[in-house]
Amino acid sequence: MVAQVYDVIVAGGGIAGSCLAGVLARAGLGVLVVEKEPRFRDRIRGEGTWPWGVAEARRAGLGEVLDQAGAVAVGLLKRYEHRQPSVTEWDRSGPDEIPGMGFSHPRLQETAFAWAAAQGATMLRPAKAMRFAHNGRPSVTVVQDERADDYRARLVVGADGKTSAARRWTGGESCADPEHHRMGGVVVAGAAIRRDWDNVAWIPGEAVNWFAAGPEQTRLYLVLTAERLRQTEVDRSFAAAVSYAAAFMPEGALEDAEQAGPLGFFANADTWASRVAGQDVVLIGDAAGSPDPTQGHGTALLFHDVRRLSEALLGERDWRIAITAFAEQRTRAFAVIQAWDRWSNVFFDTSEEAARLCEGNERARQADPTLGGFAAIETDGPDGLVADDAARRHFFGQDLS
Ligand SMILES: Cc1cc2nc3c(=O)[nH]c(=O)nc-3n(C[C@H](O)[C@H](O)[C@H](O)COP(=O)(O)OP(=O)(O)OC[C@H]3O[C@@H](n4cnc5c(N)ncnc54)[C@H](O)[C@@H]3O)c2cc1C
Repeated sequence: MVAQVYDVIVAGGGIAGSCLAGVLARAGLGVLVVEKEPRFRDRIRGEGTWPWGVAEARRAGLGEVLDQAGAVAVGLLKRYEHRQPSVTEWDRSGPDEIPGMGFSHPRLQETAFAWAAAQGATMLRPAKAMRFAHNGRPSVTVVQDERADDYRARLVVGADGKTSAARRWTGGESCADPEHHRMGGVVVAGAAIRRDWDNVAWIPGEAVNWFAAGPEQTRLYLVLTAERLRQTEVDRSFAAAVSYAAAFMPEGALEDAEQAGPLGFFANADTWASRVAGQDVVLIGDAAGSPDPTQGHGTALLFHDVRRLSEALLGERDWRIAITAFAEQRTRAFAVIQAWDRWSNVFFDTSEEAARLCEGNERARQADPTLGGFAAIETDGPDGLVADDAARRHFFGQDLS
């Protein structure tokens, strides 16, 4: 049988895969997206994008996708102490400023998938990308309705998420940091919260985060160690999760809350591909590198990937040069976010060493509130930052006399 030929095959039609496919199809390329799920469901994933990610999405021309998905502006990040708002971490609520966004993850997936089709991409679902081969040109074997077909292209993009099989297609392997905490939660309806804020409360070793996941629902994320999860059993029942979270939030915030999605928890750690680009194949989104969800940079990074890779492919005739340049830049950006994730783990650690590092960070913030640029990572992103040993020492105040 003659294989069907495209410019680009995208394995995985989540937010990263569908957004990239739509941007490339909009520019006139022939794009095939292969997605294994028949319909997207709530998998307890990212529903908030930091301002730097929203800026990336808009630069890629994806503002309409966020709007169609009912994403709402989340203008500032507020830290709570003793159930009351205390510190404003950043404020992007001014009329000319780009705020963060809150949305329903499955709704954004469905919207991006439909949007990519409307831009002219060919969407196959449910269909599974099973095998990558390179015989002069890259090809992917796709199984749909118990039938296997080969599709060829100039370029294959792996956008198949955190447990990516495509990480091996580049000739690399999958790497992971050790788990430090579990993070998860549930989406609720009927919560009485500040819907224009991202709200977060910490106690030593634990945290609760709540924000508007679209116009009606509220996402509750809980961060605990595996041991505390066993003690509290907040992963066992909606009632336990809500009563745990409510103790961090203003009085009555969850009084009328009803469960609006599944409850689940996941190991917190960065996982990444050792090689982002191979021979005519490149990875984006969580497949390229999935940051620790505690710091919430996953969706921002995928919008960054869509913008950077689409610009590289549309601006360079030689796609091997384009994907090599993209991979170098992506690896640099991920290294910064990964360093930030690792440094920030001390805020969830209850050891004496962590307490010393936290104190050092407090002194560092007083001496330099910008932390050498790292304090603005949620609003300005990782580009331009270098996460070397000097930056780490600066973060923990170890360079102060
Ligand atoms: C508990 C938790 C909380 C999080 N919170 C945040 C947050 O607040 N903010 C934030 O920015 N990020 C957060 N994240 C991370 C965020 O969810 C991810 O970075 C983001 O979903 C990655 O999108 P993606 O499209 O790259 O991957 P995915 O969403 O995993 O999409 C991959 C797609 O590929 C499909 N697929 C996989 N294999 C195949 C195959 N062989 N063939 C065809 N299709 C395939 C899958 O069905 C899926 O649709 C969180 C993650 C977790 C686990």
